[in-house]
Amino acid sequence: PTTKLPKVGTTIFTVMSQMAAEYKAINLSQGFPDFDGPKNLLDAVGQYIAQGANQYAPMTGVPALREEIAKKVAMLYGNTVSPETEVTVTSGATEALFAAIAAVVRRDDEVIVFDPAYDSYEPAIELNGGVAVHLQLQPPAFHINWQQLKDAITPKTRMIIINTPHNPTGSVLSAEDLEQLAELVRDTDILLLGDEVYEHIVFDGHQHHSLLSHPELYQRSFVVSSFGKTYHTTGWKVGYCVAPAALSVELRKVHQYLTFSTSTPMQLALADIMREQPSHYQALPAFYQHKRDLFNTLIAPGKFTFTAAPGTYFQLVDYSNISDMNDIDFCQWLIKEVGVAAIPVSVFCNTPPEMRLIRFCFAKGDETLKNAAARIVAI
Ligand code: PMP
Ligand code: GLN
Repeated sequence: PTTKLPKVGTTIFTVMSQMAAEYKAINLSQGFPDFDGPKNLLDAVGQYIAQGANQYAPMTGVPALREEIAKKVAMLYGNTVSPETEVTVTSGATEALFAAIAAVVRRDDEVIVFDPAYDSYEPAIELNGGVAVHLQLQPPAFHINWQQLKDAITPKTRMIIINTPHNPTGSVLSAEDLEQLAELVRDTDILLLGDEVYEHIVFDGHQHHSLLSHPELYQRSFVVSSFGKTYHTTGWKVGYCVAPAALSVELRKVHQYLTFSTSTPMQLALADIMREQPSHYQALPAFYQHKRDLFNTLIAPGKFTFTAAPGTYFQLVDYSNISDMNDIDFCQWLIKEVGVAAIPVSVFCNTPPEMRLIRFCFAKGDETLKNAAARIVAI
């Protein structure tokens, strides 16, 4: 083959955001807030730039930021990690995911992903010679079927990617799930890649159960998060990976040649807000639950059916009461005829799901959500 990713086109997030702009639809497709992060955070970046913090950051990340990440991990997940050897700042979670996969996946290694799966995993696996093994999350709650996972593990299984809270379904792992996972991987060399970018967006009083909180699982894990989600700054592309020292060494070998380092003034500003305002991420569950509940209450009288998302800033809805179209056609129709953009779920699936599902992003101002809901209930 002349191309390395023959199956890959332009990512659905770009396609849908462009189409939303073209038809002037309310954009609830690509996942990003339409509001800014805390003003002091934005101002701090300007101040650091004015002060001359404009050259390369250390390869592994600004020390102050790595320290704050380690403090947070200790406080929230009871895990004492070394900011020097276990925390690496990356250019978004996307870079951390790619670097972790590139660091350990060898030719013909199998990597288990759960569909619907975030769209960056499979290309990263394939570019590194690995093979993605797709398992289906089980509707309606989109939980992992542990027996199915057990059956899918082979001597070639190198890694399992665990995304909790899960994009696009919003499902979250429980403490018992982590135990099930521990039982399955015990006595194997399987590594785990935890995509936990929505770690602070969990609802209804539930807790986020991080791989970082499970000492046994952590020993084999890369755990990835993103400041874009937590501080409403997706355009800054700052994320990080926490992994035991031996795994971090391997991750850093890739990171140093993929991007080398990540924007200096943003890292300094993020370190300040983490230190001075932990209340920011502590308030996120309530902040986003208000938006989820507002949106869901407003669209409930309409024809979509759904169960409220347990986490993330996405709400999955079933449109089978409205149309027989496939989900891609339906999303195009929704943009053109209703004026609201969403993401079709089949693009995250190796085998198209039997359910007719699309994803709305509710990380939007309340007025935007009200306007979108008014259009949706009028269908
Ligand atoms: N993983 C998941 C599940 C995501 O939803 C996203 C972003 N939307 C990412 C990774 C990438 O995060 P970042 O923008 O920090 O690269
Ligand atoms: N993660 C975001 C989403 O799920 C989009 C990120 C991107 O556009 N690459 O919508």
